[in-house]
Amino acid sequence: MIWYPYAQMKTMKDPYKIIDAEGVYLYTEDQKLIDSVSSWWCMIHGYKHPELTEAIKQQADQFAHVMLGGLTHEPVEKLANKLREFLPGDLDYCFFSDSGSVGVEVALKMALQYYVNKGEWQRTKVLSLTHAYHGDTFKTMEVGDDEDYHFILEAYGEKKYAIHVDTNIPALEEAFAKYGHELNAFIVEPLLQGAGGMRMYDISFLQRARELCNEYDVLLIFDEVATGFGRTGNRFVADLVLPDILVLGKALTAGYIGHACTVANHKVYEGFYSDDPDKALMHGPTFMGNALACAVALKGIEIFERENYMEKIRKIEEISIREMSGFSHPKIKEVRIMGACTCVEVYDPADLEGFQQFAYERGVFSRPFLSYMYSMVPYIIEEDQLVQIFDIMKAWFAD
Ligand SMILES: *Cc1c(COP(=O)(O)O)cnc(C)c1O
Repeated sequence: MIWYPYAQMKTMKDPYKIIDAEGVYLYTEDQKLIDSVSSWWCMIHGYKHPELTEAIKQQADQFAHVMLGGLTHEPVEKLANKLREFLPGDLDYCFFSDSGSVGVEVALKMALQYYVNKGEWQRTKVLSLTHAYHGDTFKTMEVGDDEDYHFILEAYGEKKYAIHVDTNIPALEEAFAKYGHELNAFIVEPLLQGAGGMRMYDISFLQRARELCNEYDVLLIFDEVATGFGRTGNRFVADLVLPDILVLGKALTAGYIGHACTVANHKVYEGFYSDDPDKALMHGPTFMGNALACAVALKGIEIFERENYMEKIRKIEEISIREMSGFSHPKIKEVRIMGACTCVEVYDPADLEGFQQFAYERGVFSRPFLSYMYSMVPYIIEEDQLVQIFDIMKAWFAD
């Protein structure tokens, strides 16, 4: 018996059963569906990509996995080297793990211990954004701000270690003035807050955050699990404002196998580098640096560069703006577009009930949540396929 995610099992409607997938398409027994959400935003190259499949097959013929405790191997070394070159600034030190949530946990642990190693025990707090989502494990829920997890607050009482701030500069300055000396980190989903409702904000907020983090000696963490690899129209938001720690997941392995990477800069790494064994980072997921995951990640990055994905994303954004910006209806609160993400927010979540089935019958897989209807398409999508998604969104509102 499968216990499905984010679902009341008693009332959940039957999930669609996928029997094949290729390119942007998912196949059920009776339908061919464009996957408008890229399997939770990770399947950027599409399904059954021959080169990605081949990379996994070749690695599987060598070995599928060896632990990183006391061992190393070529795929993980190559991936760390590739990321060093691919990522901006001195984000050079890769700590691998098996999922985005764990990658964020590692980042938060790193930030806390970085100051403990320096003897600054008072820096116990983390600043994060209102509507933040950083994963489903306990610490990530604590820095997150999802109403679905507020039962945690009710069960445990007030949050002691996480403070939330809106994405406006005066509020940020106030938070730093008040808590700056107790913070070890400011963690953000940069420019685009995904699971909190596809909320988009301006780069000037992050520029100011960088300055404040420098001023108060606080580590800046970018959770680019969702935004990394082009989603916002930037390769990484870290290309625009440099964080101290960057977390990658989802598209890192092209959606083929779960993996994540917490990348630290030189300053953070130095904070652990010592003759003192107590200053080491004590963490080690069983499947960190999994060879299949590293092999497919390497191939994915190669394709991303070779096929000029940033140009594809620019085109997706252009079409999205052409088709969707200015689209309005009394039920619609706002249409937001950034890079390869389009979100239609309605006033009343009830107005999206039935949309998934409506889209299914018209050849698109969609998964609206709360009051958000959105697309996060695979970058290989063709213009007519993208237009089909938007036509169906618009048709839903037709009277
Ligand atoms: C999906 C997501 C995570 C969690 O990643 P998992 O692999 O699902 O654990 C963390 N942060 C952000 C911003 C995400 O979108």
